[in-house]
Amino acid sequence: MTSSSRAVADPLDHGSLYRMPWSLTDNAMSWLEITTRCNITCIGCYRDPRKDGHKSLEEIREELETFKKLRKSEGMSLAGGDPLVHPRVVEIVKMVREMGWKPLINTNGMALTPELLKQLKEAGAASFTFHIDTTQKRSDFTSETEEGYNVLRKKFADMVAAEGGMTCGYNITVSRKTIHEVPLLVRWAEENADRVHSIHFITYRDFGCAPGFDLYAHGQRVAMEEKRTHPEMTDPTPLKTPEVVDQIRAINSTFNLAAYLSGSCDPKSMKWAFATRLIMKGKTLGYVGPRFMEWTQKLNHMFKGTWLAVPSPRMLAAARTVLFLFWWLDKGVRKALWSYLKAVLRNPLNLFRRVRSQTILLLQPIDILADGRMNMCDGCPDITVHQGALYWSCRLEEIKEYGTFLTASPKTRSLPVYRRKFFHEEKDSA
Ligand code: SF4
Repeated sequence: MTSSSRAVADPLDHGSLYRMPWSLTDNAMSWLEITTRCNITCIGCYRDPRKDGHKSLEEIREELETFKKLRKSEGMSLAGGDPLVHPRVVEIVKMVREMGWKPLINTNGMALTPELLKQLKEAGAASFTFHIDTTQKRSDFTSETEEGYNVLRKKFADMVAAEGGMTCGYNITVSRKTIHEVPLLVRWAEENADRVHSIHFITYRDFGCAPGFDLYAHGQRVAMEEKRTHPEMTDPTPLKTPEVVDQIRAINSTFNLAAYLSGSCDPKSMKWAFATRLIMKGKTLGYVGPRFMEWTQKLNHMFKGTWLAVPSPRMLAAARTVLFLFWWLDKGVRKALWSYLKAVLRNPLNLFRRVRSQTILLLQPIDILADGRMNMCDGCPDITVHQGALYWSCRLEEIKEYGTFLTASPKTRSLPVYRRKFFHEEKDSA
């Protein structure tokens, strides 16, 4: 199979995409949890809001100092819990900015008022990612469908756009119940590209439920089945990135990924998959390719010393420059330029219209391979600090509860016969 036919046949072939250069010590982002408290409940939240509460400014400064020593990154995601319920969030954002990171705020938006937004911007906030979806119980808005939540998404996008200077994105959990709505959300983001800079689909995981595996801490079995929080969301075959890609490509055959982070154990798994499209007047001109992604990361690292996390809204709104500067470099940009020129020929007024860039990010959290290995995101951007050390934020609760990460082992009855025989022989000889 030639490389070009392979790219057409399989948009998820990691060999044809750019592997983001992010690592444990040098990444685009890091993850700072300033509180465990939250003002809503989300199915699938992996933090226990009853533990710990708000961190003090001293504790937060200490964690930032640990990051400084151990890990370089452009952005610092402020998370929790919900960071906006921390009474000193504005001071924390200021501290993060003064210590050299772009503060990236991850919130459900419930506590966000225009006044707080202004203060956060003045303190240095660079971006907002709003977690809004049907897995939540919110008091400010209710919808049975993901599409219904677009009203609330739009409200926050308008608020951030009115304040200016910060990017706006969304985290949306996708389960088998809601996957059919993904194309509608992709379309909605396209129509609102003037104020929506990214949309992130995160496939649902309930780590409390690991059917087919026994879980162990310090060699002792942990009864995780009892911890199953939302059995109605549990599926024996968890949703993965390829199914989300299929949904999007069903309505948009030109949808193309450009970059990825694979699994730490399974190189074929797409843990973070990036597609960046260029949009004019609510219509996609094309998707940038791997070469463009590579150059943006490398140029940022060369001139700023860190991998790129979040470009400014001004840069994202100047994507016409990308068309004219990078067409020679990247096939995807060339295709987008061709669509742009055709649009200008049809209507010369299009020459004066803005071309905007928008990222669609597909995230697939931890999964357990058949042999029991935990397949994490290789080059995890959401690494956090706990008691002076770096941990995957999605598994911090294991450290807090057991002092170690859990290990998984396929249930014995699923092992091949010769393995069982081996174990028996070993037992007999003991
Ligand atoms: S390994 Fe866990 S914390 Fe890191 S990016 Fe993946 S899901 Fe997030």
